[in-house]
Amino acid sequence: MSALDGRTAIVTGASRGIGRGIAERLARDGALVAVHYGSNEAAGRETVKIIEEAGGRAFAFRAELEAPDAVDTFYAALDAGLAEQGAGPGFDILVNNAAASGSGRIHQLTTEVFDRLFAINVKAPLFLIQRGLDRLADGGRIVNISSAATRHAFPNSVTYAMTKGAVDTMTLALAQELGPRGITVNTVAPGYVATDMNARRRATPEASAALAAHSVFNRIGTPADVADVVGFLVSDDARWVTGQYVDATGGSWL
Ligand code: NAP
Repeated sequence: MSALDGRTAIVTGASRGIGRGIAERLARDGALVAVHYGSNEAAGRETVKIIEEAGGRAFAFRAELEAPDAVDTFYAALDAGLAEQGAGPGFDILVNNAAASGSGRIHQLTTEVFDRLFAINVKAPLFLIQRGLDRLADGGRIVNISSAATRHAFPNSVTYAMTKGAVDTMTLALAQELGPRGITVNTVAPGYVATDMNARRRATPEASAALAAHSVFNRIGTPADVADVVGFLVSDDARWVTGQYVDATGGSWL
């Protein structure tokens, strides 16, 4: 029997990058994985294909998280997908991973970008949790993907860093709130991971080497490096860990 047999896990932004890695890991551990994506349907389907070819169970569903009705759209699409799988509306694990980046430095910032990043990175996860609370099983798991940018100065992307600071604060408050139900709430903070989000920053071998040099292991992280930490936090072994900010940066900025 696998660690997550019989559990249902939702992973937002699972069509690409770290989210795909998390979806693959949780499916490998036995969960039925709801693979959320925003607009890239082909990538969402690809995640499902990878999981199914490895013997796991998954389905993809779409919800643009910047939209005012994002939470309604999200749960309607999720319900349709769960029903197709013959599963009920309940779930055991929610991983808030989807996010947008690219806010720029303070002098480049616009109110439009500020509103967009806070809508996708802060408002969406908060209200997805709120709406999901009566479906999330007692003893369930919430993992929020933050960033090392909340613990180290990151003026290149000041608003993005601020959104992740809000995620860290949300984790702490909700861990206290949901403790009586046996639900754990934790943050996982990656450093540089090779995904589309920072592809431009890895455009040359020199630029890649500079990013890699932040880690004591002198390499850029992989989605699996982060996914394996999430895999632990959602397992029964992590039942006594809640409200924590878990650094998954490969020892960057030590
Ligand atoms: P990514 O490769 O850019 O993928 C982003 C994912 O989020 C995609 O699945 C995308 O869906 C979804 N998404 C983005 N905007 C959305 C929106 N408006 N509505 C709905 N879905 C949306 O990102 P990543 O690098 O894997 O990052 C994953 C998480 O790790 C994020 O929380 C990020 O802040 C954090 N993180 C990443 C790094 C890094 O170095 N990569 C470092 C620190 C923290 P579509 O495919 O449909 O567009």
